[in-house]
Amino acid sequence: MTELLGLLVRLERETDWRKPCHDNLAIIYEGAGPHIGELRCARCDAHRGWLPKQAARTLRDVIALYGPPQEPPVISNYPTALVIDPPVLLENVNDGDQ
Ligand SMILES: [Zn+2]
Repeated sequence: MTELLGLLVRLERETDWRKPCHDNLAIIYEGAGPHIGELRCARCDAHRGWLPKQAARTLRDVIALYGPPQEPPVISNYPTALVIDPPVLLENVNDGDQ
């Protein structure tokens, strides 16, 4: 988790569209209790939620593979906890008839 502390991320969850805080950029801080990380507004330090475990795992994997991101990674709740640019969408699985 330490490799994610201080990382700048872009929040594009449903709630960020409804109630944006500044430019929806957040910094990852150490979590509390069961939470792996906290998201706080990069501008005003307001609490913006908790870092989803799945997002933390994906971020860690991406950083391990490609190094620190050049652009803030996007945290979204659609279709998964983290959307990587360019988004990779699952293709429809056919039923095996062909
Ligand atoms: Zn703010």
